Amino acid sequence: MHEMGLAQNIFDIVLRTAERNSVDKVLRIHIRAGQLRGIVPEQLQFCFGFVARESPVIEGAELVIETVPIRGKCKDCNHEFLVEEYRFVCPECGHEDIEVLEGMELLVSNIEAL
Ligand SMILES: [Zn+2]
Repeated sequence: MHEMGLAQNIFDIVLRTAERNSVDKVLRIHIRAGQLRGIVPEQLQFCFGFVARESPVIEGAELVIETVPIRGKCKDCNHEFLVEEYRFVCPECGHEDIEVLEGMELLVSNIEAL
């Protein structure tokens, strides 16, 4: 289950940030997860809840996951479009050589804390 590794990574980032900012309690953590990452939010939240028990500062924090849709750019006609159902085909010209602009990211976008 790759969600457990991701949860551990997020935990490490949040813990480092919390320590640097002398945070007493982390309330909410916002994640931007590209659709191509194939993350199941419920699984990631479950794993994070488990990992978060390592730190009283982070334990009980809510993980808010925003899924970022896949944005592609046609390498032939430069048309930008949303990739639906993993169909990497340009809707304008039918070209199949598509550059992924968004949808691969996984980052902590915001941390709410006391
Ligand atoms: Zn095109």
